[in-house]
Amino acid sequence: MIFLDAAATTPVRREAIEAMWPLLTSQFGNPSSHYGLGEEAARALEEARERVAAVLGCLPGEIVFTAGGTEADNLAVKGIALARRAEDPRRTRVLVSAVEHPAVAESAHYLARVHGFAVDTVPVDADGRVAPAAFAALLGPDVALASVMYANNEIGTVQPIAELAAAARTAGVPFHTDAVQAAGWLPLDVAALGVDALSISGHKLGAPKGVGVLFLRSRIHAEPLVHGGGQEHGARSGTENVAFSAALAAALRLAEAERPQAHGRVAALREDFIAAVLARVPEARLTGHRSERLPSVASFVFPGTSGESVLLELERASVLCSSGSACAAGSDEPSPVLLACGIAPEVAQTALRFSFGAGIAAEDLDAAVEKLVDALATVRGRGARGGRSSSAAA
Ligand code: PLP
Repeated sequence: MIFLDAAATTPVRREAIEAMWPLLTSQFGNPSSHYGLGEEAARALEEARERVAAVLGCLPGEIVFTAGGTEADNLAVKGIALARRAEDPRRTRVLVSAVEHPAVAESAHYLARVHGFAVDTVPVDADGRVAPAAFAALLGPDVALASVMYANNEIGTVQPIAELAAAARTAGVPFHTDAVQAAGWLPLDVAALGVDALSISGHKLGAPKGVGVLFLRSRIHAEPLVHGGGQEHGARSGTENVAFSAALAAALRLAEAERPQAHGRVAALREDFIAAVLARVPEARLTGHRSERLPSVASFVFPGTSGESVLLELERASVLCSSGSACAAGSDEPSPVLLACGIAPEVAQTALRFSFGAGIAAEDLDAAVEKLVDALATVRGRGARGGRSSSAAA
């Protein structure tokens, strides 16, 4: 199997499992219990928090563990907007970019639908980048929150987050970034980025599925979404997932230590892969920004074919990748991200994303290019035969 879908998920790293194991077995206490076993669990949780905070360059108290990237995004978007409007009733607008993951986009829609916020979509250019000037023009004293993702999950485009966050700060608007795809590849120092909130997901960087982090700057309030015993400094009730939090901390720390080397190596392989695909498949078009992109993502459209059919052919040839993310929800609608980049719906349907883990091998990518060429030929041949038979039937 050649796994080229690391942006969808990654296997759990041994070090993450080793960090979890004692917390699932001998040290299984509830961190709220006031005896030794519970206190041991509470200490392990705080150690995990400190490790994550060290990577992000923030205070441990600014880290909220969640049940994944989706929950971290929901807490940031809904929680901050609701709290900010409660503090200042004029703040009734929310800004989100046109290329957000549904975890952000749908949270903003919810704010509009249920809480009467106005949602403004910040446009992107053909490469999927937000123009800082267009973003700044939408800011104002009536904005409760702005959210622009660090790097896109479909096309890998990296946004000018520090510049956008600085503009938001000047306007007094809290700024959140979804760093789920950026984590492990790009710097996460929240002071340098200047963001007020930042989301991470464990399973994109070698921790289990179902654990995430929201960095929430101490002066920024977020209305909790989950009420109960007041865990996570009141931001997120529920008995803490100590083991998964420790696993996330271990995986994040490793990913951060390995990042400089992994970035260089994988970016070089991505360049070779993009060059080979564009050379071997003349109609292929790269989507996303040419250089401001994640080292780990190569995404294309192949006009005249069907992304889903090519995906299935590749799977038969043991190459796993992804078509547009909308398909993940069982929909065959063209990807809103590609549409926002100005790609026609029928072309957006031909999208494929190849995404690489840090350990990706050059030989696997060479083999994947050959299999992609074969898969495209098979699907085209079938289309041509199908076209003849259907016109014969007519
Ligand atoms: N945000 C982005 C950019 C993602 O790519 C994903 C996952 O695909 C998420 C949020 C959701 O994270 P999780 O799967 O941990 O809920």
